[in-house]
Amino acid sequence: MERRPFGPTGRDVPAVGQGTWRMELNPASAVAALRRGFDLGLTHVDTAEMYGDGRVEEIVGQALRGRRDEVFLVSKVLPSNASYEGTLRACERSLARLGTDRLDLYLLHWPGPHPFEETVRAFERLRRDGKILAYGVSNFDAAELEGAVRIAGPGRIACNQVLYHLGERAVEHEVLPRCASLGVALVAYSPYGQEAFPDPTSEGGRVLAEIGRARGATPRQVALAFLLRDPNVFVIPKAARPEHVEENAGAVAVRLRAEDVGTLDRAFPRGRPRPLPML
Ligand code: NAP
Repeated sequence: MERRPFGPTGRDVPAVGQGTWRMELNPASAVAALRRGFDLGLTHVDTAEMYGDGRVEEIVGQALRGRRDEVFLVSKVLPSNASYEGTLRACERSLARLGTDRLDLYLLHWPGPHPFEETVRAFERLRRDGKILAYGVSNFDAAELEGAVRIAGPGRIACNQVLYHLGERAVEHEVLPRCASLGVALVAYSPYGQEAFPDPTSEGGRVLAEIGRARGATPRQVALAFLLRDPNVFVIPKAARPEHVEENAGAVAVRLRAEDVGTLDRAFPRGRPRPLPML
């Protein structure tokens, strides 16, 4: 599995990771899928206290048993909990559910009611105590990200996790370039657009299949490879089935040519600049 430098952390992280939202719906299969992913090097695991009201962190904890040290483990604090004391408490709860003593990365799930200064103060305290190794943000637009870096200081915000898939390329206008200039990694969530992955009979679906045939890849692998064409991007598709994880892992081997990128760009246009969308 290809690994890339992850923002200012000094760590190399797999380009393709694993999301976990809604894994509470089929926990046994989800644990098997996560562990199959670890075997294949998909060791960047993204979860959150919000998912299944904590249930998903417990499922991830099961998958981590005996394998914690292989994984770059990410969780997120809910904005409503992100006061100084609230963040410290939320982190303790997440660690207990995950059955670990540390997170590799802790994110603010989206901008919320508590001053970001307070959240950062808690993140710094958690870092000093060894409970998190790095921290970052999610769903921050370019201006919010700049504000976050100003507050936290240079080299502190590791990533911005945002909605990014072929059908929703808004981040390419401002957020992606701003992440690059600030040295912040961009993590693409919902990289398949959840259940809205292009149908094979649609125009976009036909384009994906055609490029896939030419490059020996599946349409989904082509879609992930398109997002990964930027070296500062990481993707975290969620797959609760081992066979889906195997397909997703194959995306890093796909070498898109410039003409493929041009064809995809026309089939899935970026559109006009617009406010950062989120799910
Ligand atoms: P997604 O990854 O775009 O799509 C997930 C769907 O794709 C599931 O139905 C999954 O099915 C299916 N799938 C995955 N691989 C497949 C394959 N190879 N073939 C066929 N189907 C496949 O959507 P997402 O879960 O919203 O996004 C990924 C992760 O990003 C989340 O799980 C979460 O960790 C994170 N996220 C973060 C935020 C945020 O605000 N920060 C918001 C949304 C998501 P199966 O499960 O049946 O395999």
